[in-house]
Amino acid sequence: MKKIIITIDGWSSCGKSTLAKQLAKSLGYVYIDSGAMYRAVTLYFLRNHIDWTNDEITLDALKNIELHFVYNDKSQQSEMHLNDENVEYLIRDLVVAEKVSEVATIGLVRTFAVEQQQKMGEGKGIVMDGRDIGTTVFPDAELKIFMTAEILVRVERRFKEMFEKNPNITIEEVKNNLEMRDYIDSNREVSPLRMASDAILLDNTSISMEEQLDFALKLVSTKLK
Ligand code: C5P
Repeated sequence: MKKIIITIDGWSSCGKSTLAKQLAKSLGYVYIDSGAMYRAVTLYFLRNHIDWTNDEITLDALKNIELHFVYNDKSQQSEMHLNDENVEYLIRDLVVAEKVSEVATIGLVRTFAVEQQQKMGEGKGIVMDGRDIGTTVFPDAELKIFMTAEILVRVERRFKEMFEKNPNITIEEVKNNLEMRDYIDSNREVSPLRMASDAILLDNTSISMEEQLDFALKLVSTKLK
């Protein structure tokens, strides 16, 4: 059966990974969370006090980073491993979220991530979400979706998720973080967040998860014909 590449880009916390996971599960495809890679690099940089504004230091540091997605039977998800350590939980922390967009502006970091992402797509049959997947990583992808939702809806969703892990977090912190990341992501020089000209817009402010999956599956079936 024909396999395609599906890209899902969009603003922070608008449900990209939820849709990507649903789609991958329904189609028997592999889901790849490209944001987890930028988060893992950021975690490494923070832990090792890497000055990512210095290209030489950054390049050296990247040589010591190995990223792998490892499937966890228990959580039934692929989890991010940084040099053989499972960092899936740690990379979701606000400390990482506060720096990840800055790290993701660095050209060397993007080249490092994009090369690996393109390799993962060689056999097709993947759903990858991120910010530049339809524009830079897979400009020829068969199906590109660009997601958006109203900011307050996005803040509420992310707040609920983060509050479960950290009950001290405030809604203002979450809102500031989302707005800051969206600003940096869409204004950076290298591969800024943009809707690809051939992407399909999906605003999920007021639709259910079932409705968005249904919408996306219909798009897939037209692409598979
Ligand atoms: O998707 P997630 O919110 O986990 O991504 C974290 C950050 O990683 C984004 O805010 C963005 O700065 C960066 N990112 C990126 N390009 C991607 C995926 C994520 O620049 N393809």
